[in-house]
Amino acid sequence: MGPMNEAPTKETKFKRRPEVLVEPMEWNRSETLALAAHSCTRCHGVGLSYSSRSGTAPCQCVLRNIFRACHVRFRQCLEKEKHLCKVTLNHCSSPNSRPTWGRKDEEYMADFFLVSRRFLDEEEFRVFRFHLLLGADWKLCCRRLNTDRGTFFHTVYRIQEKLGRVFRELAPFSLYPLDEYFNSTRRADAVSLHPCCLIPIRPIGSRPVVPTLKAA
Ligand SMILES: [Zn+2]
Repeated sequence: MGPMNEAPTKETKFKRRPEVLVEPMEWNRSETLALAAHSCTRCHGVGLSYSSRSGTAPCQCVLRNIFRACHVRFRQCLEKEKHLCKVTLNHCSSPNSRPTWGRKDEEYMADFFLVSRRFLDEEEFRVFRFHLLLGADWKLCCRRLNTDRGTFFHTVYRIQEKLGRVFRELAPFSLYPLDEYFNSTRRADAVSLHPCCLIPIRPIGSRPVVPTLKAA
């Protein structure tokens, strides 16, 4: 029996399952220049780093700044007076769907937390929770997590870089840029078809003539 006639087992089914193709984001200078740190010794203010293995990649300073911008906005949403929260009309990405009402601040806080929890491992999430969500300083975190200062800050930098990249590359809707998230500027354009291009196959309003056999 050839391999094409074999009954698909659980393993072969999994292997033959079509992979979800996610096109990697192309980082360019226009994307990173405004976010790069001018004093960065790695990218020298350009925001891109080059390596023979991975090619062009965003610099760590860019990813950290993306995370800091998202984190500052999270803190603002969290500390805002509750009576200032408002319901806004959001346009959906699909051109055929109706706009919906939503509470953007609360949605953003939920997305920030859930995306972080999904992409961090257990140790990183503990540091993220104590230091970046609950606001404990490094001394308290080191005592609570039983770690030293160097390891703690290395973990914080790794979290910022990992989440900064995730917040930007998240598809189909990323958390960064923040103005696009909060203002729903993304909207797929509908395909426009000029009515003159439509050529009917028969006159409009007429019924098709079906040939019938006449009785003798
Ligand atoms: Zn840099």
